[in-house]
Amino acid sequence: MRADPEKSTLDTTRIAGIGAVFVVFALLLAFLSLSLFAQPASAVPNGLISADTRVDGQEVTVVAEDAPRAEEVLRLAEDGWARVDRIFETSPPEQVLIFVLPDSEYDRIQPAPMTRGFATYGGYRIYLKSGSVDQEVVTHELTHIFLGHEVRSGLEVPDWFNEGLAQYVSGARAPTLQLIYEMSAGNMLSLEELGKVDALHDGNRQIASVEGLAIVQFLVQDFGEDRLWQLLARLGDASSFEDALTSTYGYSNLELNQRWMAYADDAYSLFSPSALRAYVTLVIGGLALIGAAIWLIRRTQLIYAGEERLRDEEVVAARAAENHIRMVERSSAAAVDAEQRQLNVGPPERRELPPGEQE
Ligand SMILES: [Zn+2]
Repeated sequence: MRADPEKSTLDTTRIAGIGAVFVVFALLLAFLSLSLFAQPASAVPNGLISADTRVDGQEVTVVAEDAPRAEEVLRLAEDGWARVDRIFETSPPEQVLIFVLPDSEYDRIQPAPMTRGFATYGGYRIYLKSGSVDQEVVTHELTHIFLGHEVRSGLEVPDWFNEGLAQYVSGARAPTLQLIYEMSAGNMLSLEELGKVDALHDGNRQIASVEGLAIVQFLVQDFGEDRLWQLLARLGDASSFEDALTSTYGYSNLELNQRWMAYADDAYSLFSPSALRAYVTLVIGGLALIGAAIWLIRRTQLIYAGEERLRDEEVVAARAAENHIRMVERSSAAAVDAEQRQLNVGPPERRELPPGEQE
C-alpha cells in the first residue's frame, strides 16, 4: 500500500519531465521557423504592428503600437508625401519605413535631447516619438529623406539648410522671440559660420535650426519659392552647396550673406514690425495668464469652501438660493430702513404743504 503512492508520484514526475522536454522542443521549433521566415529583426521591433501603402509606386510602411495608430500615421505620411514629392526631382528609391515608438523607447534612442523625430539622412527610415506625432513632424522628416536622395552623393549640405528646409516645407512657425533675442545678443551667425554648426552635437546646435528656417524664409521672401526649388534641383549635380547657392541666386556667398544680415537686422531688431507683433502676442498671452490665475484662485477658494464636490447644476442652484436669501435679507433690511426713514421723515401730508410754507 505504501509503495503505490510513491510509484505514482515517480510516474507523474517522469510524465511531467517528458512533457517539459516536448514543450521546450516545440518552442525551439517555433522560434527557429520564426527566425527563418520572419523579416530581419530590425524591420519591425517586438510588439509593434505595421501598415503600408503605395504612394506613386513607392512603398511607405508605418510600424506602430497598434493597427489604428499605424493607419493614422500612414494618412499623415500620405499627405506629407504629396507635399514633399512635388518639390523634389528624385524620390527615395527604397521603401520608406516609419517607426512610431513609445515615448520611453524613443527617448532612449533619440540622437539629441528634446527631439520629436529623426530620419536617417540619405537613408529611408524615420523614427517618431508616439506622444508627439503630428502632420508637421511627419512632413519634416520626409523632407530630410527626400533631400538626402536628391543631393549628389558626396555633396555636403550644411545642417542649417537641411533643418531650415524641413521646417519651411512642413510649415513650422519661426520662433520670432528667440530670433529677436539671438539678434540682440549678437548670436546670429554669418552663412559661413553657420555652415560649420552641427545641428545634433554642437553646443550651439539650436541656432542651426532657428537661424536655418529664418534664412530659408529670407530666400523665399527676397527671391521667390521657385528659386528655392531650383536650388534643390541644382544640389543633384553641383560641385558644392556654396556653388549651387551662388549659381541659383546670382550672388557671391559674401554678397548673399550681407543681404541676409541686412534682412535679419530689419526683421529681428528690437523695434522691427515682427518684434512688435511678438510683443503684442506676449501682452495678450500675459493677460490670458492673469485671467487663468484669477480663475485658479477662485477655484481654489471654491474647493476650500467645499463647493468642489457639488455638480455644476448644484452649484448654480446653491448660488441662486444664496442670491435669493441675500435679496430677501436686503429687502427686509430695506423695509426696516424704509420704516426708519419714514419715521424720520414724518407723515406724508407734510410733503404736500405748499412750497415756502415752513413748519
Ligand atoms: Zn530635422
